[in-house]
Amino acid sequence: LFFLAIGQFQQGRAAIRRVDELTTLPQEGGVLDRMRHRPKPPSTSSLSADQDAVEFRSVHFSYGGKDEKNGEGGEGSSGGDAQQPAETLSDVTFSVAARGMTAVVGPSGAGKTTLFQLIERFHALDSGSITVGGKDIETMPLSTLRGLVGYVQQDTAAMRGSVRDNVVYATPDASDEDVRQVIELAGLTKVVSELPQGLDTELGDQGSGLSGGQRQRLCIARALLQKPAVLLLDEATSHLDSDSEREFRETLRKVSARCAVIAIAHRISTVVDADMIVVMNEGRVQAVGQHDELMKRDALYYRLANSQLQAATSTASWPTDPTGMPG
Ligand code: ADP
Ligand code: MG
Repeated sequence: LFFLAIGQFQQGRAAIRRVDELTTLPQEGGVLDRMRHRPKPPSTSSLSADQDAVEFRSVHFSYGGKDEKNGEGGEGSSGGDAQQPAETLSDVTFSVAARGMTAVVGPSGAGKTTLFQLIERFHALDSGSITVGGKDIETMPLSTLRGLVGYVQQDTAAMRGSVRDNVVYATPDASDEDVRQVIELAGLTKVVSELPQGLDTELGDQGSGLSGGQRQRLCIARALLQKPAVLLLDEATSHLDSDSEREFRETLRKVSARCAVIAIAHRISTVVDADMIVVMNEGRVQAVGQHDELMKRDALYYRLANSQLQAATSTASWPTDPTGMPG
């Protein structure tokens, strides 16, 4: 598996640039505090294990915003006068503990990625509130928020440059020890040691590629270097070879012992391993629970999980076809 076609490469650069914009101050996030050598920035806090990392309270959101939707000349002309387009997110309420792994599942278009974008304040809510570490995100400086919340987007890609460049891109003053630690946490120590120049090995068109699973873990390492209190992970692919699958599970296990991991999951293994599962459907939280109980009491979850298990392989795709849902 070699590196990215030009288009993907540029997309990757765009995603990385976004990360760069998002990342300003180094933060105390609890993940790597022990290794810090720099003076601590003021007015940031790591979350204690017993507090909520993220809480949604009656969140409503639509793309375009409530004011624009009421204006004339909208593109959706099919509805009658009284018909409002469905909200992207409706009355979303749930909370996530400061440690452990939460999986978000649901059909394509359910609003999973939008949830993450709201936590990062890419868009303003129509109503309701979101807190991170008990503080309303709207009252925080954006740099504080985005230092607390690491985000590995679905389209985040590795880029041209060395392995080290890829990891430190958003945190250029990171020490070698910091880099070593996040590489270890991401399960890449052995992979890197087997590359011809280790951390200095050039990726991209230089021909030393990484597998999809390794690239994903490289992106996780990059996000961990910010020392986030919350790591949002939009699981990039449902297809990992079994080694990568095992490494990925191990990485999630280790990371979620140190901070809150919220993963939009496309793999049954991620879901079954989760401490909590949030089932999204048509912009709403349909159910919250663990695998065993959701199998018993949520028809949509049962259906999604069953079709996944019947695929008879842990690397099969989580189904994204929204048709055929139970009524
Ligand atoms: P999921 O991640 O669960 O597949 P998304 O959060 O990406 O769902 O999308 C939820 C809904 O919002 C979908 O109907 C999608 O088409 C719509 N949507 C997503 N992003 C945008 C956007 N930038 N502008 C307008 N609509 C969007
Ligand atoms: Mg999505």
